[in-house]
Amino acid sequence: MTTALLTHPDCLNHLTPEGHPERVARLEALLPRLEGKDLLRVRAPLAADDDLLLAHPQDHLDAIKAAEPERGIRQLDPDTWMSPGSLQAALRAAGGAVRAVDMVLSGEADNAFVACRPPGHHAETRAPMGFCLFGTVAIAAKHALERHGLERVAIVDFDVHHGNGTQDLVQSDGRILFVSTHQMPLYPGTGAPSETGPAGTVLNIALDEGTTGEVYRRILTDTILPRLRAFRPELLILSAGFDAHANDPLAGLSLETADFAFVTEELCRMAAEVCEGRVVSCLEGGYDLDALAESGEAHVDALIAAAR
Ligand SMILES: [Zn+2]
Repeated sequence: MTTALLTHPDCLNHLTPEGHPERVARLEALLPRLEGKDLLRVRAPLAADDDLLLAHPQDHLDAIKAAEPERGIRQLDPDTWMSPGSLQAALRAAGGAVRAVDMVLSGEADNAFVACRPPGHHAETRAPMGFCLFGTVAIAAKHALERHGLERVAIVDFDVHHGNGTQDLVQSDGRILFVSTHQMPLYPGTGAPSETGPAGTVLNIALDEGTTGEVYRRILTDTILPRLRAFRPELLILSAGFDAHANDPLAGLSLETADFAFVTEELCRMAAEVCEGRVVSCLEGGYDLDALAESGEAHVDALIAAAR
């Protein structure tokens, strides 16, 4: 019984400017905490164009490939930058997620954590945004549907920011349930509860600044888990951001490390009930290095415990 860890050294080559919160040091803080754990370690492969095209049009791929500078760092939007190596890193993130889906659906692993960067949940159909170049979890979900023949996949995004990109990429597909919890108002400004998607398969839960772990746990138990059980996904994909932590500098929620463990345990329990425990989790945000490392470790520990 196995938890897979997918990552790649290339994810350390995506550079952002001095002082940027989404930085190499994030993985350097998190990965050592996962050393020595009972994990099946896999080098994240590069996503192929065909993988990216599951979620994005060719012109988006062409634009991102053309945007990578030969030297220095190039700004794509107010928050999003590329350096030499950024494309390769983003392809590892998407390829890692696709491979993780393959592993979990083939039984090679019970569940998986993809510890890559840049994150993906703000990348829209044709636009890099909010540190993100490609919609990693959306690509993974569509890969499971289109290539493995699944009929229902659920995505739960517990990053403190709304997963606007994932919503943009999946909301017209009624086979994908997208659940996002996020502080509101906060970047990117979308994610009102009234945004339910054309197929009615989007659940946005807006949280007030200062929301505690106690309140968050209640929302998970009373609202999110029943919706997931009713949808009966055959695979659960997580957008695992740890920036809802009280110490995070980019947001104002008040979750603690133990809350991320609780959330992971409960989601894995639900997955055990409805989809043989198949969970693929992909790292998104989390910008206080200690909080990220501690919460990410707790998340992975819960995945390992669920796989036993
Ligand atoms: Zn975030």
